[in-house]
Amino acid sequence: MTTTVLPLGTASALPTRDRHLSALAVERKGRVLLFDCGEGTQYRLMDADLNRARVDAVFITHLHGDHVYGLMGLLSTLGQLGRAEPVVVAGPAALDRMLREMPGMQHGWLPYDVEFVSLDEGFDRACVYETEELSVTARPLDHRIFTAGYRLAEKTRPGRFDPGRARDLGVTDPRDFGRLQDGETIDVEGGTVDPDDVMGPERQGISVAYVTDTRPCEGGRRLAREADLVYHDATFGDDLSDRAVETGHSTAREAAAVARDAGAQRLLLGHFSARYDTPEPLVEQAREVFPATDAAVELAPTVLDPREKWGE
Ligand SMILES: [Zn+2]
Ligand SMILES: [Zn+2]
Repeated sequence: MTTTVLPLGTASALPTRDRHLSALAVERKGRVLLFDCGEGTQYRLMDADLNRARVDAVFITHLHGDHVYGLMGLLSTLGQLGRAEPVVVAGPAALDRMLREMPGMQHGWLPYDVEFVSLDEGFDRACVYETEELSVTARPLDHRIFTAGYRLAEKTRPGRFDPGRARDLGVTDPRDFGRLQDGETIDVEGGTVDPDDVMGPERQGISVAYVTDTRPCEGGRRLAREADLVYHDATFGDDLSDRAVETGHSTAREAAAVARDAGAQRLLLGHFSARYDTPEPLVEQAREVFPATDAAVELAPTVLDPREKWGE
């Protein structure tokens, strides 16, 4: 199954004519997970031809308005669309209080439950969302206020069963093929056959890290570890590296160093300051450190397919 990553907004703080406020959509089988939800995100979901009614979870990094003010509008619209299934919202604990106190944001007003997963100061790592196929974990980042980054990872799949090899080792009963795949050891004439003898290596799924807003930090590197795709704060270029320190952001070059040190496959730069009409200079600076870098382009999809890693 493929996973599509779609930046919906790549502006920092100030929306411009060309750039919208922070949000990144991940789509699988028509279901949508959202990372951040800046003002106007529900319109960007429509622009991206994603089904708003099928947003299953929203992961909020922090409570600067440019990352969260679209959440109430989206949750309200989901109610208007008659959603009945719960929606998971993960983020700082103060957001839970905001939603509880805001009229219209609770069950009774909304026809569905908001299941809030609260992240508190001092947390180290938390699993905030899990399905049969994937999980999303959070780690703390280093910004001016409490901020969490996220990593979506598909679960590891078992290796491929080799029936020819099993037969060569003396396994004749087809039912034993299934038992081996379930992890059982099988007795054969003159010995035993272990699952490891007939199963290929475990197949790693794809992973995507969402790391903004932040200085380069250990939490970001851990989220990005060997990820197939990393979206990282690159608010400034080399010319404004002191502004990056003052405001708790990263330069494009620093984002590239995080991706390189984490052993990531690809980097998308985002959260661009309105001072830059085009992110091209930032991309050039980053590529000196990590060549597999691009600027995130709003509504331009990146499709990730784990079968490419498995050579299938
Ligand atoms: Zn921001
Ligand atoms: Zn911020």
